[in-house]
Amino acid sequence: MPRTLHTYTVTPRLPERLAPLRELAYNLRWAWHPDTRALFVTLAGEPLWKECEHNPAKVLGRVSQATYDALSQSPEFLAQLDAVWADFSAYKNAPADPRWEGLGTVAYFSAEFGLTESLPIYSGGLGVLAGDHLKAASDINLPLVAIGFLYQNGYFRQSLNADGWQVEHYPANDFYTLPIEPTGKKIAVQFPGRLVHAAIWKAQVGRIPLYLLDTNIPENADADRHIAGNLYGGDQETRIQQELVLGIGGVQALTELGITPTVCHMNEGHSAFLALERARQLQLKTGLPFAEATNATAAAHLFTTHTPVPAGFDIFPGELMWKYFGEFAPKLGISFDELLDRGRAPLMEPGKFNMAVLAFRHARYINGVSKLHGHVSREMAHPVWSEFPLDEVPIGSVTNGIHTPSFLSRQMGELLEAHDNDPLQLPDEALWNIKNERRATLVKWARTYQRKRAERRGASDSEVDEADNILNPDVLTIGFARRFATYKRGDLLLREIDRVRHLVNHADRPIQFVFAGKAHPRDDGGKELIRRIVQFSRDPSVKGKVVFLEDYDMAMARRLVQGVDVWLNNPRRPYEASGTSGMKVVMNGGLNCSILDGWWAEAYADNGSSVGWAIGQGEDYDDPGYQDHVEAQSIYHLLENEIAPLFYARDEHGVPRGWVAKMKQSMHLLGPVYDTRRMVTEYAQTYYLPAAQRAAHLAASDYALTRELVAWKLKVREQWSQVRIEAVTSPSDHLEAGQQAQVRAVVWLGDVLTSGDVQVQLYTGPVDTDRNFVHAAGVPLTCEGRDGGAWVYTGTLPTNHSGQQGFSVRVLPHHPEAILPQELPLIVWE
Ligand SMILES: *Cc1c(COP(=O)(O)O)cnc(C)c1O
Repeated sequence: MPRTLHTYTVTPRLPERLAPLRELAYNLRWAWHPDTRALFVTLAGEPLWKECEHNPAKVLGRVSQATYDALSQSPEFLAQLDAVWADFSAYKNAPADPRWEGLGTVAYFSAEFGLTESLPIYSGGLGVLAGDHLKAASDINLPLVAIGFLYQNGYFRQSLNADGWQVEHYPANDFYTLPIEPTGKKIAVQFPGRLVHAAIWKAQVGRIPLYLLDTNIPENADADRHIAGNLYGGDQETRIQQELVLGIGGVQALTELGITPTVCHMNEGHSAFLALERARQLQLKTGLPFAEATNATAAAHLFTTHTPVPAGFDIFPGELMWKYFGEFAPKLGISFDELLDRGRAPLMEPGKFNMAVLAFRHARYINGVSKLHGHVSREMAHPVWSEFPLDEVPIGSVTNGIHTPSFLSRQMGELLEAHDNDPLQLPDEALWNIKNERRATLVKWARTYQRKRAERRGASDSEVDEADNILNPDVLTIGFARRFATYKRGDLLLREIDRVRHLVNHADRPIQFVFAGKAHPRDDGGKELIRRIVQFSRDPSVKGKVVFLEDYDMAMARRLVQGVDVWLNNPRRPYEASGTSGMKVVMNGGLNCSILDGWWAEAYADNGSSVGWAIGQGEDYDDPGYQDHVEAQSIYHLLENEIAPLFYARDEHGVPRGWVAKMKQSMHLLGPVYDTRRMVTEYAQTYYLPAAQRAAHLAASDYALTRELVAWKLKVREQWSQVRIEAVTSPSDHLEAGQQAQVRAVVWLGDVLTSGDVQVQLYTGPVDTDRNFVHAAGVPLTCEGRDGGAWVYTGTLPTNHSGQQGFSVRVLPHHPEAILPQELPLIVWE
């Protein structure tokens, strides 16, 4: 055995005329540009294209020199290449968009990115959303770079054993055949007693570079090489190590690459340590103390939370924090206890460090991913702003979207293009034909797929042959594919299996179901759901009509969303923060049937049944068993009485006019809204641009405003215990509409604070029979000057609504340049 191994890489030698293929292969725009993909299919031929897992970079290395030489003489191929290259060059060199002037560079951090099945560094919705964010940023020419991990094993691949139980495999990623390139740059992150190194790779996503950190390099000790081993694997210590590399190493990587971001966007809390590293770097550069440094950097941070339950946040015990941050705290000029405080909140897991709290405290901008999830997030974060009314917890929402071109079938894309991209103009027959074709394609593909899978599993010949007869290209097809987390209730449909038997075997209006999805390796509850479905699918009465497809990934997602008629989603409310897979069926002419949770709650509220179906009415029962019962009944009812009858109501041309009308409404009303181009534009306008401006403002004149604000906050904090409301007087407790009624408040601010440091507000709104505000808002009172040592404020009670109204007086800190209550969550109530 040799003791030394030298490695080198070999790259294909392309004839001069075919040189553009290289850039086309290594720019992931092919993931959403069918013509570019078609070019590589021509180059490879179908079998090699499949063998290379639809990965042009791999294809380049596998095509023979003879083929290259032949194609470089082929006029057809050269014409195809030139057309694609011209389109690509125009895309790449598009002029800057004036909307993003002055934005600088946004850095987007995420633990996973789902860009294409051939770059397996994602597990599910969060990753696909991050990937779609980059693709849309590229399309709207937003200046953005991204940071993530290059996992050696990525997420697991799923197979099922004979019993239907999930088995996980972790095939290693061969980085040298992935559509990524080394940058030649490296970083080193300080770990206890050692440095952990990471190489920086780059995936080019249209105009957007995605930098990926790879810890599997010789500089690292064996254990450290596995830090970026797999996604969400390992124990808590692996987790904190990964998050150190992503947050701290990610910021270092940007520095190493010469990129100075104006705004950092944390996609979920995994990267929140970046806040500490950004403060440290600024302190090194400017000598600012920690408070000033965090004040200046937090202005440029946006935190997007995707979690619907507090248990979803990463929480690290104090000892683990001590191990990894004991030596970091002094570098920030703070004690370890002060550092721990940055991730602690009253009521939240005492003694532990919560990554979401760290992010809440170090991001001036925070959002959830649907309107309902914004509300849920405000509830979860309430302990951080506990003195404030729930609706004043400073968390907004940007509803998720999907990158439509990545999920749209080629045929549908072409049909839309031929009709000004206006779904309402599509001829019914043409639209219906495409749906039929795509359903048939799905069925054909599923048969081949199941056959191969059965063979691999060593199933009996009869079982292998049965695969050829599963599903029916003409039958109403319902898709259900997502992670098998218990809250998603993958087996809700099976509550009454006789009803399902009846549905799938209906003489005139049969229905078929296609299931897919992975359970987390440690989630036995999720795996049990999969087993139930798989075992049910073997029941002779439903065989071939209820199908489970193993190893759900982005390629399968595309096939499903393009082929199915209805996308079913039945999570337990409100645990689906947004959900995105249902959005992927929309422009493919699929219809949604879903619980009113996440995005569907607002899509349905805005458009009603013209675009799909709601399971239940958004009512919540205390008994989860009863909830399941009610919602399962609702699903059966919809399928039996609404969905199947509409689908099978054909006219003399065989077209279901009512169904097609719904398809068009759904495409027309939902398509443009639940799209990442709308979403990323919203992020840019609501958060990135204001954050960049504010950060620049705070940094101007050697951080003059930052210093002023920190000094002001210190003063207010020190004096706040003195603030009290001494007296409030109001007119009679019965008023007539339109009557002028004055409120007078006397407020003690202590010896140091003055009326300029606070805002005294009248907090008013209608009151219910339990004397609680139905809703309320604060309006500033006017300062009338001093009366002795105290300050006098007056204002008018609103009398424009009749009924029982309430009011209370409150005092809040006020500074024209501060973002409140984020920066100083203080309040005194009457
Ligand atoms: C879109 C997508 C998801 C997310 O689905 P949800 O319904 O939002 O949970 C998960 N996995 C893959 C492969 C996807 O394409």
